[in-house]
Amino acid sequence: MPSISSRLSTLSESVIRNTTRTANQYGAINLAQGFPDFAPPALLLDALERVAHQPAFHQYAVTWGSQRFRDALARKITRCAGVPIDPDEHLVVTCGGTEAMMVAMMTVCSPGDKVIIFSPYYENYYADTVLSGAEAIWVPLRPPDFAFDPVELERAFAQGAKAIVLCNPGNPTGKVFTRAELMVILALAEKYDAFIITDEPYEHMVHAPHEHCYMHALPGAFERTIVTNSLSKTYSITGWRIGYVQASPEVIRGARKVHDYLTIGAAAPLQEAAVTALEFPDEYYEGVRRFYTQQRELFLGYLKQSGLSYTEPQGAYYVMVDVSPLGFATDGEASDFFIKTIGVAGVAGSSFFREPVNNYLRLHFAKKDETLHAAGERLLKLREYVK
Ligand code: GLN
Repeated sequence: MPSISSRLSTLSESVIRNTTRTANQYGAINLAQGFPDFAPPALLLDALERVAHQPAFHQYAVTWGSQRFRDALARKITRCAGVPIDPDEHLVVTCGGTEAMMVAMMTVCSPGDKVIIFSPYYENYYADTVLSGAEAIWVPLRPPDFAFDPVELERAFAQGAKAIVLCNPGNPTGKVFTRAELMVILALAEKYDAFIITDEPYEHMVHAPHEHCYMHALPGAFERTIVTNSLSKTYSITGWRIGYVQASPEVIRGARKVHDYLTIGAAAPLQEAAVTALEFPDEYYEGVRRFYTQQRELFLGYLKQSGLSYTEPQGAYYVMVDVSPLGFATDGEASDFFIKTIGVAGVAGSSFFREPVNNYLRLHFAKKDETLHAAGERLLKLREYVK
């Protein structure tokens, strides 16, 4: 029997997706894998229904994204970030943000190149680095406030980094990078001539007084920034798998090739239906922001009473909860206890850290009130176990 690729030897299965399977098995409320349990906007579903009956949309779209979708997307990004985006030069539409990040890495990395990843990190980044033949250089974001040390970051760039990955707002940290922090990262990327690959699916989920600042909109940043993003979170359509890469024309010419050979294209009828979402007015995004801040307040209200401490998220919908007072040897045991005894599933924090940190569980609050109340009531049982 021949052996499978050695590239896979350092990769494990996704802990996030695995926790979802265990949660389902034990009937726990799944606050592990981040996705909503409510319907997408009705107007978007109506559009999907209309598109379903139009034969033209059931065949391949243009490989880098249908013209109508890219036109609408370019208008939406231009409106939100304030930098003109050309639908024909700056965009490739992908199968979710997941493919977008893979495409970005494969486009810029040659075998042996180095990519800086902040730790804790969203687990795909390391896998994408390995699958692109690159090597990761780790820079810690230290809890509880998840700040980085500019000296440590410069040391990483000085090792000859080809790119840095920046998840903003952060998953799993909930950190919203300030403009000043982004300027530090940009200055180093300029000094060491590296790309900045951003991952910004939570751009509209930022809790006041924090504000999302777009890296590509900073002076001088556009050419070296490769934005990866997705419609999944903003429009509650994680199953549609629509994302995109937005970058300079030169990068996009490379990204089109990678994307074409990987997947040919994102689902044509879903791109057509999603044009409706991209044309939503500004009030839609204000509503998204308001809603997630409300869900954060609702959920943290329970967590506060649970006896465990946590880092209050500035953006996105994840909370890192410190489970050390429960006295388990590992966060894997804590995760098991949460699923089987408390009835709420969270992701073992160690799966996000490169350092040996294993006292966190990541929970999320992208759920309707009813689900968060039910989960919150269960979390109150923790008071009996906190030592
Ligand atoms: N980004 C989401 C999370 O971190 C969903 C991950 C996934 O499994 N696609 O939970």
